[in-house]
Amino acid sequence: MSDPHELTVLNPSTEETVATVPAASAEDVGAAVVRAVRAQARWAALAPADRARLLRRFADTVDAHLEELAQLEVREAGHTVGNARWEAGNARDLLLYAAGGAERLLGAQIPAPGGFNVTFHEPLGVVGVIAPWNFPMPIAAWGCFPALAAGNAGVLKPAETTPLTALRLAELALDAGLPEHVFQVLPGHGHIAGRALVDHPDVAKIVFTGSTTTGREVMERCARLVKPVTLELGGKSPNVVFADADLEAALDPFSFLDNSGQDCCARTRVLVQETVFEEAREFLADALAAVVVGDPADGKTQMGPLISRQQLDRVRSYVPEDAPALRGTAPEGPGFWFPPTVLTGERPDGRAAREEIFGPVAVLLPFADEADAVRLANDTPYGLSGSVWTRDLGRALRVSRAVRAGNLSVNSHSSVRYWTPFGGFKQSGLGRELGPDALTAFTETKNVFISTEGPAQ
Ligand code: NDP
Repeated sequence: MSDPHELTVLNPSTEETVATVPAASAEDVGAAVVRAVRAQARWAALAPADRARLLRRFADTVDAHLEELAQLEVREAGHTVGNARWEAGNARDLLLYAAGGAERLLGAQIPAPGGFNVTFHEPLGVVGVIAPWNFPMPIAAWGCFPALAAGNAGVLKPAETTPLTALRLAELALDAGLPEHVFQVLPGHGHIAGRALVDHPDVAKIVFTGSTTTGREVMERCARLVKPVTLELGGKSPNVVFADADLEAALDPFSFLDNSGQDCCARTRVLVQETVFEEAREFLADALAAVVVGDPADGKTQMGPLISRQQLDRVRSYVPEDAPALRGTAPEGPGFWFPPTVLTGERPDGRAAREEIFGPVAVLLPFADEADAVRLANDTPYGLSGSVWTRDLGRALRVSRAVRAGNLSVNSHSSVRYWTPFGGFKQSGLGRELGPDALTAFTETKNVFISTEGPAQ
């Protein structure tokens, strides 16, 4: 049973304690929201150019502390140092991108007889952001920074395993000159601090990233207050590889091993056309054996540990010792290590083929033709991302349109760019983050009609 008053942050590659942090109570959350309400009114009243200038200064401050933030992420989350640097850079870049939006929150002028009709994008007020542990900095940034740019205050509850980079970001915001209480970080337990944020009547919107089960609960509780919610939930994304594809690029094992597979966009269902299935299996066997798993602080390491003992046990439950599989290696001893794995004897309706594992484990499945590929790709309750590999442009477009998922890549495994929209179909979520409309997701549209009729004669 974890301590309700304190969080212990462990280094996942050594199991040593990195820090202990006080855990916010429901009362702490309530007090933070009261402070945020006051701060938001002043923040929204600033000229958009002034808000933008402060956010750019915040970006510069993050940039000046990029290596420190990255090293902190290596220690608290076990991310490889290369990934951690990218993550801190992503937070900085999103600040700059969002800052540019503050002065471009354009309304519409709509023709109306007898007057003049305009729309305004009004900030919502206080936005509550509940972040997971798999990408602590980027996901905190995606929820909070566009909201700030649109004139809202943000209250962030990071995951209990990874509060440190979020806390540091909040300090850097103050150093950069952001007004107090505009961006607050409250580490705490989900069922205490997270729930208090969701249930608070003065929190105008919740942005939640995490499991589909918790996301459903968050949505139900928001529904009682008619509170808008953005949900970024799980995934079981397909990698559809046709026989004419560049097989080496298509079967890049980091499409499902990046961040030790703790990635909602991981392409964990590797669907390969049956005519090249054996070739694919042989390629993946060699590729997995070559993956360097170990100390995430070492620049040569390609894959680090899982986040926690709990996650390790969860991942293990999907891979029985005797399961037919291709396997790489992982360190022994302390740390939450699991080797890169591809299950080769799984049925499409098996547990490992249907549920999000959130570890370095994929399933390899054959398909016959295009129709079969689309059927298999869509045979999942999730719909977050996916890849399509073929040199046939028509087929690439047909399959991308037919797969029910929010983020598809053709001849690429990329999913997330801060300047393009991101989000899921089906049980992968609701709403979109990032992209050109990121700020408007944190506003209400207000319509104002101004009569131009003179006084009655
Ligand atoms: P959760 O969905 O439980 O946690 C995500 C965030 O929600 C954390 O900050 C958590 O706090 C908080 N939270 C938990 N319960 C509540 C609640 N009742 N009300 C409000 N907030 C709450 O995910 P887990 O960490 O338990 O991971 C389980 C699985 O979820 C993973 O194996 C993976 O499959 C999936 N997942 C998907 C992610 C994605 O990117 N879409 C990210 C993370 C997980 P606390 O840290 O205290 O639990």
